[in-house]
Amino acid sequence: MSQADPFSIEDAHLAQVYAKRPVTLVRGNGSLLYDSMGREYVDCAGGYGTCIVGHSHPRVVEAIKHQASQLTSCHGSFYNDARSQFVQKLITIAPSGLSRVFLANSGAEAIEAAIKIARRSTGRRQIIAAKGGFHGKTHGALSATWDAKYRKNFEPLVPGFAHVPFNDAEAAKSAVTSETAAVLVEPIQGEGGVRMPSPDWLPILRDLTRDTGSLLILDEIQTGFGRTGKVLASEHFGVEPDILCLGKGIASGLPIGVALANDHVMGSLAKGEHTSTFGGNPIVSASGAASIDALQEDHLVDNAATVGAYFKNKLDKLHANYPIIRDVRGLGLMIAVEDRFDVYNLLQKGLEEGVIMLDAGRNVLRFLPPLCMNKQQVDRVITVLDHLLEVEQVGRVPSQTIA
Ligand SMILES: *Cc1c(COP(=O)(O)O)cnc(C)c1O
Repeated sequence: MSQADPFSIEDAHLAQVYAKRPVTLVRGNGSLLYDSMGREYVDCAGGYGTCIVGHSHPRVVEAIKHQASQLTSCHGSFYNDARSQFVQKLITIAPSGLSRVFLANSGAEAIEAAIKIARRSTGRRQIIAAKGGFHGKTHGALSATWDAKYRKNFEPLVPGFAHVPFNDAEAAKSAVTSETAAVLVEPIQGEGGVRMPSPDWLPILRDLTRDTGSLLILDEIQTGFGRTGKVLASEHFGVEPDILCLGKGIASGLPIGVALANDHVMGSLAKGEHTSTFGGNPIVSASGAASIDALQEDHLVDNAATVGAYFKNKLDKLHANYPIIRDVRGLGLMIAVEDRFDVYNLLQKGLEEGVIMLDAGRNVLRFLPPLCMNKQQVDRVITVLDHLLEVEQVGRVPSQTIA
């Protein structure tokens, strides 16, 4: 084992908080990844959704290189050319009223900002989130996140949070009152298993928040930036939020999270009340601006819709062939295959056959590929999956499958 062996070093010295896959990734190109042995993988994980425009997109690479040669650090208390250009582009892809931006460094930080902005601008405390929702793991965001496995060992969490069942309009109607600061939801629940909203869920939340003087915060950290075949998933449902959170791939994998609001809502924060040393970093900003350009020039939102529909159709066919698949759902290039078995082995075997996939709970396979994925690459994934499902299906009797 060489001195620089990443397995032994990371296992020996990093906090052991990630379930590791036995591969050292060293290079990427579009929808493909390469390991230290030179093996190629079709990337259906996209760095947990952080790779939108494709790995090492030339435009993004150039922008990062150029900015690194100019200025790598600039605090928010100074003006900066790269940051201002990014913000100018960012507000063009957001709903028109949301032209004030708070720049942070991760999705969870975008949510923290949104919670504080909502409390500050309404003067109220209560935040209503959805069961099954995921918003990050810092204490504020975690208080909105539903899953007990993330919450239970870290109490007390932040007071003032309540959860209603996803898609339950009646529960939302009784929960959202004149005490509510904000309703905070994902348009499509990502970590929760790619759970689709009923068509009226977001419009109902929009009406409820408007009627009670509370704010609608949409967490589009996973669904935003073209992922579902529209720039924002909320566009599919005709709803515009008061606060929009974006993150994951908007700077092509560099650390970022943003909260957007209108002048009035964002204006409730006084100077110094919420800031971040790194927020609006010039390199991240340059990467973000180049990512927006790439999204538009490469027509990636349309590609997510077309290739996503193609992908889902192929998965539907597998569903028809394999009773161990329970459901296929999703929108654009955010797709889940819910199975009647634990998918852990299938993820490992997929890796051995050159396909990187994600899970979302123990029996759900999740696909969040770069939006530049093409149909041939989808076919490669389907061929591998077909084979793996066949192996999985063989010899299985219904009693061995999990409910
Ligand atoms: C990933 C994610 C977050 C948290 O983002 P981090 O950058 O990991 O802090 C929040 N909300 C949603 C919907 C996410 O998918």
